[in-house]
Amino acid sequence: MAEKRKYKKRFCKYCEAKVDFIDYKDAASLKYSLSERYKIMPRRLTGNCKRHQEMVTIAIKRARAAAIVPYTVTRKVVVANPFENLR
Ligand SMILES: [Zn+2]
Repeated sequence: MAEKRKYKKRFCKYCEAKVDFIDYKDAASLKYSLSERYKIMPRRLTGNCKRHQEMVTIAIKRARAAAIVPYTVTRKVVVANPFENLR
């Protein structure tokens, strides 16, 4: 059965761009590997290779410590499940 997914392509975006170093200060590029609740996306969804996924993980953790990327988001900011608000 064909399943429609949000992330279809299975190639490493960083390999394609030939990135050797991911800067933790570059929040815009880190956001690609973050979910809408600012969790780190697993490799099976982003399609990153192992090497770049580790680099992204380290960069995001550094960015969190430097308060560039938030650790968590409150429910007011993200309405991921609209049925939750009915309660
Ligand atoms: Zn890669």
